[in-house]
Amino acid sequence: MQSQRARIFNQSVIIAGIIVCLISVVNLPLNSLDLRFAFLAIFTVAFGSRLSLRMPKSQVYFSMSDALIFLLLLLYGGECTILIAAFEATVNSLLLKRKGFKFNNQTILFNAAVMACSTAGTYGALLLYQKVNVRAANFDNLQEFISLIGLIAVAQFSFNSVLAAVFQAFKLKISVWRAWNEKCLVGSITYIAGAIFAGFLYKLIEHLNSFALVIGAVTIALVYITYRHYIRELEKTIEQAEQAEREKAEIERLRAEEAEKHLKEISASFAEQKRISEALRASKERFRHAALHDALTGLPNRSFFTEQLKYLLDNAKLDPAKGFCVLFIDLDRFKNVNDSLGHAIGDELLILVGKRIEHVIRQGDIVSRLGGDEFAIVLVNISTADDAVKFSERIYEAIAQPYQLHGFQVYTAPSIGIAMSNDEYEQPDDILRDSDIAMYHAKEGGGGCALFDRELRTRAVGIMKIESELRDVSERGELRVFYQPIISLDSGRLAGFEALMRWQHPERGLISPAEFIPVAEDTGLIVPMTIWILREACTQLSRWRWQSPINRSLLVSVNLSGKHFTEPNLVEQVNQILHETGLEPHCLKLEITESAAMENAEATARILSSLRELGVRLSIDDFGTGYSSLSYLHRFPIDTLKIDRSFVSRMGEAGENSEIVQTILTLAKNLEMDVIAEGVEKSHQIELLRKFGCRYAQGFLFSKPQPAADIEKLMKQQSNWLPEEIEVLQHISASNVVPLR
Ligand code: C2E
Ligand code: CA
Ligand code: CA
Repeated sequence: MQSQRARIFNQSVIIAGIIVCLISVVNLPLNSLDLRFAFLAIFTVAFGSRLSLRMPKSQVYFSMSDALIFLLLLLYGGECTILIAAFEATVNSLLLKRKGFKFNNQTILFNAAVMACSTAGTYGALLLYQKVNVRAANFDNLQEFISLIGLIAVAQFSFNSVLAAVFQAFKLKISVWRAWNEKCLVGSITYIAGAIFAGFLYKLIEHLNSFALVIGAVTIALVYITYRHYIRELEKTIEQAEQAEREKAEIERLRAEEAEKHLKEISASFAEQKRISEALRASKERFRHAALHDALTGLPNRSFFTEQLKYLLDNAKLDPAKGFCVLFIDLDRFKNVNDSLGHAIGDELLILVGKRIEHVIRQGDIVSRLGGDEFAIVLVNISTADDAVKFSERIYEAIAQPYQLHGFQVYTAPSIGIAMSNDEYEQPDDILRDSDIAMYHAKEGGGGCALFDRELRTRAVGIMKIESELRDVSERGELRVFYQPIISLDSGRLAGFEALMRWQHPERGLISPAEFIPVAEDTGLIVPMTIWILREACTQLSRWRWQSPINRSLLVSVNLSGKHFTEPNLVEQVNQILHETGLEPHCLKLEITESAAMENAEATARILSSLRELGVRLSIDDFGTGYSSLSYLHRFPIDTLKIDRSFVSRMGEAGENSEIVQTILTLAKNLEMDVIAEGVEKSHQIELLRKFGCRYAQGFLFSKPQPAADIEKLMKQQSNWLPEEIEVLQHISASNVVPLR
């Protein structure tokens, strides 16, 4: 709409311009036009606009054409000036178009029309002011001349700027005032300068002759050139300064950009740092948790537990009311679960045990897995031993309930040792050690709970003493072998011996194996000790066998600890000893207890077979006291079962309580094994054993275990080892001895 108006205005101005030009042509005062006019007109059109100077640091141009047009106006009046102005504007527009300004024909016409109209307007204003023909005016009055020049400037500026402002307002769709103010006002200075210069030229032309005019023109040209040069230089300097400013600004901008980038990088690196330190903190947490917790059950581990215990001990010292107790838990037969059902199920069992304990204990109590199948608990706020035992029994019950694991019903019962806190405990390990001692005591008693007391510690200290003294005992020559005769119940003759170990302690005298064998087993010392007794017994029997033909059928039994079954070169060691001592393999019998044999039945079966291949005899000791799987018993290459003395001693004179003995004898008969009854102390036991078909026995009734020399004496003194009141059933000569298998 607005641009439509702009177009209409544009066209109107063009039409007005054309009319003004036509009128000017019609009224052209041809007779007053001279050579000077021609020169000025051509000069105006050709160079007017080219001789322009820009005001430094502004968009304002001082154009020579304005001054020349004003001069023409003063010299030759309006008509010819209007035409020259229109023509000059056209030429100027074309020149600008060639330079790249986007002028279309319409715009060029408009520019020319504006020039024509505004020059006409200025001329009109002059006429109105002067009321006379300009050409005939008297410009001698300087004051009048100056006002005239001012009028020309103001009029030309007003007409020109208003027309341009209206056009711009329509085009840019803004108010005329704004357009005039913003776009056209700055141009006023051009007109004023042009008018002043025109006045100066006019006066110059009026007062000077041709020569002076030429000089003046040359001077003006020189001034112009100098000024232009100066302006150019100035502009160049300004341009350079501006360029420097721009470069500086650019550098500043780049620096700002750089700084911003740097800032971003810093904040990104801060974020990264934060992330890294977060990750570090998390992994430290994990490490700390891993360092203080058991990986399998997730329960606090020993070091964490000890730390807590330390704190509680210190606390209890400050405030005796804050008593607590420590429970040490060991699972009985856990090894069996691992061996028979596999480690994965064993692990699951440990996890479940941990959970059950956690379920029973109260807030503030601490449960820890110390390792293997050992757990420890701190029960806080427990001050009496009675309370501690009651609570321990609840934990016992919880753990002893059957477990369902992968379709298996698994049982395990704990042995629990209890130690109450007191101010004598300095270190966490002290109270933990005492609960451990109590646990061992509980285990010895077949499981359950046991409370620590001083007596237990004395015993434990004794065991520790034995442990340290037992080292290198065989090298120190403190071990002894006692031989207990094994008697044929039919003939009363000697069938062989069981070699039994004694410790000749330098201070305590002879120590029973019951006291030191368990310690030797725990420490692994049993292995070299067994090798020692094997060598001794084989050497001894070898000697006895060569002493008399009647001794040829004798054999010696040596007890083999379950711990020895994990020794990879057991079979090799036995073989080597037989070689060294020259004893025939069938004269050596190795005894293993029923529980040791069953503990790791698969491995036992393998090792027993290898031993059997050597030709060595094998015997199951303490038969009936452990749990024997019949299928394994069948697979083991066993020669002999030894009935435990508890069954033998239980047999009454009338044969009561002898069922187990009879059962074992029947079983052995079916398995084609010999049977030796242990612990025969009374004559009626011989009668009964004979009646049930038992053919061999050992016991105090025949002989206690004795040193080789004493046995040798007895061997020389007697051939019948049965007590006098027992009748010999079978008289056997040296030539037809029926040997024990
Ligand atoms: P064991 O293998 O069952 O040995 C038989 C034990 O019964 C011997 O005890 C023996 O003195 C005892 N005994 C024999 N007849 C009677 C009797 O009529 N009445 C009573 N009350 N006891 C009788 P000892 O010599 O004290 O040995 C105890 C245990 O120590 C042995 O039981 C055996 O398990 C172990 N042991 C002994 N020597 C060795 C050894 O060299 N190696 C291993 N691994 N264990 C041994
Ligand atoms: Ca034995
Ligand atoms: Ca035995």
